[in-house]
Amino acid sequence: MTVLTVAEHRQGRLREVSREAQTAGRELADAANDALHTAIVGGDAERLAADLACEGVDVVHTAAEGAKFNHDVYTQALGQLVSAIDARVVLVPGSVTGLDYAPALAARLDWPVVTDAVGLTAGDGPTVTREFGGVVTLAVDGDGAVVTLRPGEWRPAAVTGEADVRSFPADIDDAAVRATVTGSERDIDPALTEADVVVAVGRGIGTEANLDVVFDLADAIGGAVAASAPPVKRGWLPADRLVGWSGVTVAPDVYLAVGISGATQHRGGVDESATVIAINSDPSAPIFDVADYGVVGDLFDVVPALTAVFAE
Ligand SMILES: Cc1cc2nc3c(=O)[nH]c(=O)nc-3n(C[C@H](O)[C@H](O)[C@H](O)COP(=O)(O)OP(=O)(O)OC[C@H]3O[C@@H](n4cnc5c(N)ncnc54)[C@H](O)[C@@H]3O)c2cc1C
Repeated sequence: MTVLTVAEHRQGRLREVSREAQTAGRELADAANDALHTAIVGGDAERLAADLACEGVDVVHTAAEGAKFNHDVYTQALGQLVSAIDARVVLVPGSVTGLDYAPALAARLDWPVVTDAVGLTAGDGPTVTREFGGVVTLAVDGDGAVVTLRPGEWRPAAVTGEADVRSFPADIDDAAVRATVTGSERDIDPALTEADVVVAVGRGIGTEANLDVVFDLADAIGGAVAASAPPVKRGWLPADRLVGWSGVTVAPDVYLAVGISGATQHRGGVDESATVIAINSDPSAPIFDVADYGVVGDLFDVVPALTAVFAE
């Protein structure tokens, strides 16, 4: 069961999810006792390929088609590569880009697509664990499957420089390229899943106007702002800031939880963080069970005091 992972890049940089996919791919390839291939399509593929030569990766394929992401080019190039190497599983980062082409690639191959995997093992085909308020395990039969991976669930593979890098001559049918990206806007915040520091705010903040307290701290320490469910449900912060089972999984160096109780559904998105710091007025809040450091206190005292230290 040859496994193919697909790298993701933006503005000339590889995204961390590319190497997370490689770790997931290696686990699956090991379970199936087979090879792990990685593909990078478009952009400066030849240059970026060196950073994809990671532990456990046998071959990196470059298909340098077009500077920007294109749905049809990705679908065609990856479909051809899957046939050429006889891959049986394609692992795609569960990003906005990955979720764009993964279903189309699956349709082209006449395979199922399984989204939002948090665990993988091998049986006759891949066995995929998904999590959404409960845990579900799916064994996929048939010729193959396209699986999208929840970001932040696997550690990024380390670069070794030892993989075999090959150029793949994709034969793109321009007449079948119907979608074109005409522009893109830069995110105001760094993407949550790539931020080194995340400052997350919960119901304890009280009102939307109080959010300034948290944004000031995030600005002072160069962090991205995230949230538990209540601030998102009230429309104070956009849905892509939600951390947890219904949102994203993050894996920063530091996760600072401000006025968050630490419900299981929230903690599910935080577990991969290297260091968790909690600020909460309730000493029995469950967030302290997973925090490396905790401050029991009123966030309206503690957070401005921290901001002042870092703003100096
Ligand atoms: C299927 C399902 C999926 C879900 N998915 C998610 C998800 O993805 N992400 C998520 O976050 N939730 C999710 N939830 C909701 C989750 O169960 C909790 O309700 C939610 O995480 C609680 O958010 P909170 O900690 O901000 O609020 P609360 O639980 O109300 O906690 C607020 C905390 O703030 C503290 N506090 C109050 N005032 C102050 C102050 N002045 N200073 C310091 N501390 C203060 C309190 O002591 C308390 O601990 C999901 C629920 C279900 C059923």
